[in-house]
Amino acid sequence: MEKSVDIINAMQLSDVNPSLRDPVEYRKSGLSLNHIVGCPLDCSYCVRHLFGNFDQRIPQALMTDKQAFEQFISHRYFQPHITPVQLFNRATDPMLPEVKPHTHNLLGLLDQAGLTNNVLIITRWRVTPEDCESFNALSNIKLTILVTYSGIDDPKVEPIKSSIAANSLRTLFRHSRRYRALLYWRPIVPGLNDSAAHIAQAAQLAAHAHATVFSGLFYRKEIADYYQSQGIPEPYSSTARRKLLPLEEEQRLLRMYEAHAPGTPIFRKTSCGVAYAHQQPDYNGHFGITELCDTCPATQYSTCKAAWKTPDEALLKSLCATLGVDGEPLVTDRAIIVRGLDEQRRYFMQHTLGYQVHDADKPHHYDRHGRAEAQRNL
Ligand code: SF4
Repeated sequence: MEKSVDIINAMQLSDVNPSLRDPVEYRKSGLSLNHIVGCPLDCSYCVRHLFGNFDQRIPQALMTDKQAFEQFISHRYFQPHITPVQLFNRATDPMLPEVKPHTHNLLGLLDQAGLTNNVLIITRWRVTPEDCESFNALSNIKLTILVTYSGIDDPKVEPIKSSIAANSLRTLFRHSRRYRALLYWRPIVPGLNDSAAHIAQAAQLAAHAHATVFSGLFYRKEIADYYQSQGIPEPYSSTARRKLLPLEEEQRLLRMYEAHAPGTPIFRKTSCGVAYAHQQPDYNGHFGITELCDTCPATQYSTCKAAWKTPDEALLKSLCATLGVDGEPLVTDRAIIVRGLDEQRRYFMQHTLGYQVHDADKPHHYDRHGRAEAQRNL
């Protein structure tokens, strides 16, 4: 029998970082539900550093699944059949033994409500054939399981063996009928896990996935502080808001991946991998950022191209008024550029329109989408 997690009582709740008390938050790849916080896996680069709860190693629930579900589907930014959904991607791993009963329970609640939204589960932990059968039993939601695999073998950086993720991916792929399994190859850190052997291993693993998504390291100040405190060599000399992966490094990696796994689909963006796996257009509107599409298979490119359209003027105007955009939006053939919206409202607009929405004060440059300037430590 699986263990489950305790509900945090009111006194303990006051100790939880305020930014984690609200379990619903719009993150880049979707509206995210996180009513369980705590993880024992200790990956050095975990986003939990940003919420100041890295030391909370025992998963605990802020409320019941039913309460969390109700709060989620009544959230102001949740749109049935449209909003991409993510479960437990901020403060725990959804497949930890204590957490996964809740993961299955929530998937069931979403599915039984007749919702057809994309739902993303990201894990690096163990997935069993029984888990796969539960995933296969869902009939409405479009479920994607992304398995985080890095190939990093320095236990200071990543105490959990990558073989666990590799086995989970193989199991998921072998049993998949109604859901899709993605190789989430990340974080790729120059000098740490980008050798020819590392790339060859990842490319071999890609044969056991419906698609591969790769990305660099999210190297923020809080994570750099942790690296310094633990004596872990710092991969970069500066921190950044976006993920770090230098352009030449990306090109080299793609060439070597293609040589080992010719024709095996690989994407820079999570939503593109999900879109390909489910044969749907990219819900994040990356098609406008044309340089992202050079790895995309022709059939998928055609799917995105057929669905691509300039945002409806009346709908855009009304969204700008409701969300509180400052001044007039600028619509280019790549993105809608707005001023005065925080990330959550920009993502809501992006998913409503299927078109990228950028902040005028944080410009995206050609060929640098989601990529920060990187200065490597040699
Ligand atoms: S065509 Fe471009 S936007 Fe669409 S899935 Fe492929 S890479 Fe992503």
